[in-house]
Amino acid sequence: MTNLHDETNLKRNIVPTRSFESTAGAVPRMEINRYWAYHLEANDSIITKYWTGIRQSQRTCKNCKHTTFTFEPFDQLLVTVPKVRGDSVGVTLEDCLYETLKPELLGDYTCDKCNQKGYTSTLNCIARPPELLCIALNRFATNYQTMKTEKVSTVVEWDFNNIDLDAYVTRNLPGPQNYECFAIVTHVGSSIDQGHYYTYVRDPHDPFSQTWYCMNDSKVSVFETIKGKPSDRKIFGGKKHGTSPYMVYLRRKRPRLMAGEQHD
Ligand SMILES: [Zn+2]
Repeated sequence: MTNLHDETNLKRNIVPTRSFESTAGAVPRMEINRYWAYHLEANDSIITKYWTGIRQSQRTCKNCKHTTFTFEPFDQLLVTVPKVRGDSVGVTLEDCLYETLKPELLGDYTCDKCNQKGYTSTLNCIARPPELLCIALNRFATNYQTMKTEKVSTVVEWDFNNIDLDAYVTRNLPGPQNYECFAIVTHVGSSIDQGHYYTYVRDPHDPFSQTWYCMNDSKVSVFETIKGKPSDRKIFGGKKHGTSPYMVYLRRKRPRLMAGEQHD
């Protein structure tokens, strides 16, 4: 995605002359808009339009209540996959989002207003959810006994027809934040050093949006979903199957169209 952005960025030669500074005591919604305007000064590509989101971190000083915001653009949201024992216990994609965006406690925070040192909590969320959201499941973890990077094979499940991101999106954004899945990249193999990748894609021509294809090199197979659940649970991975969903592609849900209507 980075390469596609660089190649299609109409503002690739523009270097911002200043960095973004958060305004003390500002209204979050206005800060997000200000950051997005700053980002657009040097970014205007197909990735910017559809895939770029913004992560927000908010820190409030325990002493003087001074709040600062930090924003970071992303075109892939890297999420943590919790380690669990065996395949019988899985986690949901929402669990991974929570694990990634949960509040953090900082022990060595120095407030830039009152200069006091101490603890503070960091609140994390998605400040700008993109139209198309790519979630990358971080399946790499260091084993501190062997000091080697190992693959985390945890089963990760979700509803293909509806993922509600409302709990992970800034409270200042109006409207529902419902997405549906339209593609998945799967890794086969027990280690991060080797393996094979293949893709599942939703049939764009199926009016009921139930049919999916598995694209594995030259082999293409079909499967159905019922109420957002795939007929083959192998898609959700696990040690038993040796497969793991690795990249999950979501698109914002839009109201179903009536005959003769079309989206903008
Ligand atoms: Zn302070």
